[in-house]
Amino acid sequence: MKLAIFDNLRVGLVEDDMLFDVSAAVPGHSYAWPPVFMQTLITGWADLAPKLVEEKAKANPIARDRVKLRAPIPFTGNIIAAPANYRKHVGELGDRGVTAAGNSAREVGFFLKATSSLCGADEPIVLPQSSGRRFDHESELAVIIGREAKHVRREKALDHIFGYSCLIDLSMRIEPGHIAEERCTRKSFDGFTPLGPWLMTADEVPDPQNLSNRLWVNDELRQEANTSEMTVGVAELIELVSSVMTLHPGDIIATGTPQGVGPVVPGDRVTIEIERVGRMTLAVALATDSAPRIF
Ligand code: MN
Repeated sequence: MKLAIFDNLRVGLVEDDMLFDVSAAVPGHSYAWPPVFMQTLITGWADLAPKLVEEKAKANPIARDRVKLRAPIPFTGNIIAAPANYRKHVGELGDRGVTAAGNSAREVGFFLKATSSLCGADEPIVLPQSSGRRFDHESELAVIIGREAKHVRREKALDHIFGYSCLIDLSMRIEPGHIAEERCTRKSFDGFTPLGPWLMTADEVPDPQNLSNRLWVNDELRQEANTSEMTVGVAELIELVSSVMTLHPGDIIATGTPQGVGPVVPGDRVTIEIERVGRMTLAVALATDSAPRIF
């Protein structure tokens, strides 16, 4: 099943090129901040999924291109991210990378991105004004947690997954010769975590370690890999993260990027496609106002 958030935080089921508004069947659906009804839906999924299907039967179909898709988890407790997690990506950034060759999440652990950096498929990636820095795309499979996970061994880890989504981990690169800012700072500008186009439930993705992961800038294929090439697989990532912190329904794990990371500039269009999960294209724009601190 494909679950989308659209327009002013309506909940939709997606089928082919159509959306069906099922918001009325989502307990606690509200426009108040923070919007946590997706966590309620995920937690009660076994009982609520049939109610969503009933609601869909009553709903009028809406064409996909008539709505604005937002992040399918509009608000989350944590966005956890793996550093360089495909062997061929390690080392490609040279002085601009912070993960020494050979080190993965297994050795150096994970990092967090601000939850406020989420945006959806039909929202632009906004780069800060007046910056001389390089801003890179990273094409990643996102894992959405389905039930609480604390000290979960890898053999049981996949049972804690609700679904998957496409995630672009936008990153301001380190400037060689300058002090490196914290990863959290470089990766947490508003809109630096596009997520979408929808949330694909886990039953539709039998093996998360056998999916093509591709990203284009305009028409140029920049990143192409298979999740089978991950250094630290999804199950081991959940084991690792849940050994440190409790994962809750709706938490998002960005599973790391393959080789081919490169810059985007205003005017570009970035397309990410994860097999069985989805495909989305976002425009890259320049912020219309300037921040007091220029990076
Ligand atoms: Mn990344």
